[in-house]
Amino acid sequence: MTPTPIRIAVLKFSHETVTFLPYDTTTADFTFPGSPAKGEALLQSEPTSYIGGFVKVAREYAGVALVGIESPLDSKAGSGSGWLTEECYEGFVGTMIAGLQAEGPFDGVYLSLHGAMAARGVPRPEAELARRVREFVGPKAFIAATFDPHGNEDEAFLRHADMAFTVKYFPHYDAHLQGERAARMLIRAIRGDYAPAHVTVKVPIISPTVLQWTGASPWMDLVQRALVWEARSPDTYVNVFFGFPWADVPDVGMTFQVLTNGKPDLARRVADDMAQTAWRLREALLHTTKIHRIADAVTAAKTAARPVVLADHSDRSGYATWLLQEIIAQGLSRTLIVSVTDRPTVEALGDVKVGDRFDRHVGGLADPSAGQPVHIQGVVLAVTAGQRRDDRWLHVGFGNGNVLVVSPYLTQVMELSSLVENGIDPAAFDIIAIKSRVHFRRGFDDTGFAKTILLVQPDEPFLGTTRLEGLTYEHVDLAAYYPYGDVSF
Ligand SMILES: [Zn+2]
Repeated sequence: MTPTPIRIAVLKFSHETVTFLPYDTTTADFTFPGSPAKGEALLQSEPTSYIGGFVKVAREYAGVALVGIESPLDSKAGSGSGWLTEECYEGFVGTMIAGLQAEGPFDGVYLSLHGAMAARGVPRPEAELARRVREFVGPKAFIAATFDPHGNEDEAFLRHADMAFTVKYFPHYDAHLQGERAARMLIRAIRGDYAPAHVTVKVPIISPTVLQWTGASPWMDLVQRALVWEARSPDTYVNVFFGFPWADVPDVGMTFQVLTNGKPDLARRVADDMAQTAWRLREALLHTTKIHRIADAVTAAKTAARPVVLADHSDRSGYATWLLQEIIAQGLSRTLIVSVTDRPTVEALGDVKVGDRFDRHVGGLADPSAGQPVHIQGVVLAVTAGQRRDDRWLHVGFGNGNVLVVSPYLTQVMELSSLVENGIDPAAFDIIAIKSRVHFRRGFDDTGFAKTILLVQPDEPFLGTTRLEGLTYEHVDLAAYYPYGDVSF
């Protein structure tokens, strides 16, 4: 029997907003060749990630039509910019709703989201998007979304949407899998085979992302517990939002969502179990990774087993020079620094040639967390394509076998292959200094490459610090969260 044809709209609006950065995220950040995207271009925009998984599985079903609604792709600045302007948020959401109106009606809508978007004047941007989509598609259609575990969500999202599927691992290995699930469950719901019954529980724990590595306990144990619930109760899905503390938003912090097939009691039981488990583990959750002072780590790197990775987890703009300053001050050699962001420098050297002398101040000044510019005298070794659209890496050799990469955007190197693709042999360096919290573990730790990993942050509690009490929140009462107040749960 041929199934009744169904139509599903696919939308994307994804951002992890660091609201403590002094410059806003604007429409221009999401606008570049290929973005916004619609139709097949949107559906093919991320083959190994959320939308890729969604499209792959949706197209295994007969009678399912997917419609890519005009949506912005990932911001050029990644996570390195502040509040979305009202114009940016309203502009893109308005385009999406207009797209739905032009292409509708729909039986279902898939939203590819992040969850840590923060927009001026919109307290819960993802829930607000779901609300407006619901307003258009009506109560009968189903809305499913995928999320990053760094999302800050509360019960508002599933008040308007029916289903959510959140990546479990950090590094985020399972984005494609969650996209696949969203497709399967959305189609089953539309065809009457899944009746989403869900519970959302917020747990008053706020934690810096550098501590949230799921490759080690107790974060690994939380993931494992969610997987066990999914294994023992078919049709149950457990979302663990670790939360993103650098967004000053009312729904910041840890959240669990549990979905079941028409079993609200089961959803409640599982959600309470997950929440109580996290609360029991709260002290251990906050004491996972040692964070070093930059000066101490650079000293230690001189004699530590090689290769050494120095990871400045706290730089949120990309412009921070603290680690570079210390590398120079302590005279490190054979050290690769990827990267220091300096858009004006990259733009000013538009037609630079390999072998040109480089004599400029780089980085710093974007905000207090970036520190001072650093004077680098060296030689241009290469100009390469970087690791995403609209990127460019300027490679500068200086000192004793050191290479500094200057980039136009915050650069988080996750895989060794992204160095190799830019002509850098990681094995040629004793020390590799990067800007990453946990994602670098894909290429540098899970592969066994790094013999020593030292996570660092500046002494001052700048905006990416693990010392959240040093930040000025306006929409969050830190004292209502463990470990910053006398909180019961
Ligand atoms: Zn994330």
